[in-house]
Amino acid sequence: MKFRSGCYERQWVENVVALGNSGGFVEPLESTALMILCSHTQTIIDFLLHTGLQPTDTIRQLYNDLTLSGWKDIRDFLAIHYKFNGMLDTPFWRQARADTDVSGVAELIKFYQENGPTGFCRYRLPNTQTDFGLEGFLVMFVGNQVPYRNRHKPTPSELEIWKKHKAEFIQQAKSGIRSEEALAYVKHPGWKWNADS
Ligand SMILES: Cc1cc2nc3c(=O)[nH]c(=O)nc-3n(C[C@H](O)[C@H](O)[C@H](O)COP(=O)(O)OP(=O)(O)OC[C@H]3O[C@@H](n4cnc5c(N)ncnc54)[C@H](O)[C@@H]3O)c2cc1C
Repeated sequence: MKFRSGCYERQWVENVVALGNSGGFVEPLESTALMILCSHTQTIIDFLLHTGLQPTDTIRQLYNDLTLSGWKDIRDFLAIHYKFNGMLDTPFWRQARADTDVSGVAELIKFYQENGPTGFCRYRLPNTQTDFGLEGFLVMFVGNQVPYRNRHKPTPSELEIWKKHKAEFIQQAKSGIRSEEALAYVKHPGWKWNADS
């Protein structure tokens, strides 16, 4: 299926604000459409409230800068999926690996390849406001087995801590509820979202 990918540079022009698909669309790989819609809606509300419904040019500019940087962040994050996904050896994925532009995260990739999955990678994130967070980027690198030089050899006590965490995660996962149960809660007439209370 063909679709146009991208976003407007200015999401807010005079008294018109483009929200959701009217402002941009990337693709469904990371399900970012609803995230960005919620985040931009919240920002526009905050800005309108803050300016007493009399938005200034600079507040519009700030909105446009923030939203554009959000879209660029998604582009860079998605690019990592295409560049480093080595699972399938098909013409599509070969071309994706060869041609995907990861220049927006070049510093982070270089740092990761030399130093591995360390918390210090956060200082090389392209955007400190990123919705994906350091962990989101590290999941991409570690999960796609992007090679790095400086492999950490855990000490026995670190391994013990890791084993303990793993056991806790397994326990938590076991006590989780299924989608059907979650939906039943939400559909219950007595249900209230936090924001309503
Ligand atoms: C099957 C499916 C699964 C998805 N899953 C995910 C997911 O897991 N995570 C995620 O983030 N995103 C997901 N998306 C994408 C996400 O749902 C959309 O990006 C999002 O709903 C877009 O919101 P919107 O308000 O921009 O547009 P829409 O929700 O399309 O709203 C546009 C509204 O405008 C109305 N309209 C159109 N033309 C006119 C007109 N001329 N006059 C008046 N009204 C008009 C339409 O009836 C509609 O109500 C999914 C989409 C689909 C279809």
